[in-house]
Amino acid sequence: MKTIGLLGGLSWESTVPYYRIINEAVRAQLGGLHSARIVLYSFDFDEVAALQKAGEWDASTRLLGQTGAALKAAGADCIAICTNTMHRHAAEIEQLAGIPLLHIADAAAGPIRAAGLRKVGLLGTRFTMEDRFYQDHLLLHGIEAIVPDEAGREIVHRVIYEELCQGIIRAESRTAYQAIVAALAARGAEGIVLGCTEIPMLLQAGDCALPLFDTGLIHAGYIARWALADH
Ligand code: GLU
Repeated sequence: MKTIGLLGGLSWESTVPYYRIINEAVRAQLGGLHSARIVLYSFDFDEVAALQKAGEWDASTRLLGQTGAALKAAGADCIAICTNTMHRHAAEIEQLAGIPLLHIADAAAGPIRAAGLRKVGLLGTRFTMEDRFYQDHLLLHGIEAIVPDEAGREIVHRVIYEELCQGIIRAESRTAYQAIVAALAARGAEGIVLGCTEIPMLLQAGDCALPLFDTGLIHAGYIARWALADH
């Protein structure tokens, strides 16, 4: 079994399930007292979010890349960023870390393709919805991703930072998200990529008519399978 390096705390609310899901997957495969080999670095999210908001992507990329290198020094065989947004600079972070990066959009593409879908709606931070990196990565897998209109993007982004990343769940925000998903469905989306690891705190299967793809959950399973591949 390989050792997994996790860049977490972005936010911590969504890093908790990564730790649980990866360990559950290892126990399911290896049984007994087995658990995952994990080196986790949990950032102070305020620091990273401030850099994102200021557009200081070089600094946030350096921070994650150098931390990835520290995880390598601590024995990690790979790194995984436990958030979608910082995949904006996945290639540079991987290079700085010096070990393979397990990309969240590669993970997400598997179940989307397995469900036979080619056009999905993408919900995430403004950076994830507007800066193309996520849509371009899904396109590598033959998946077209459409995003909400400006008003919808504003709501989705605000709720992530002002509510979900602070552990706040509001029914009215769920209703707003449901309306945004319905609008994406009307534009041809066949499923919805929850391209922010906190959105499943608000929106779950059954809240919408379309299938939802929980990227954190899918990513955690993908990471566990990678670590177990030599077994
Ligand atoms: N965790 C969220 C994501 O998956 C947003 C937080 C962030 O800015 O990293 O994108």
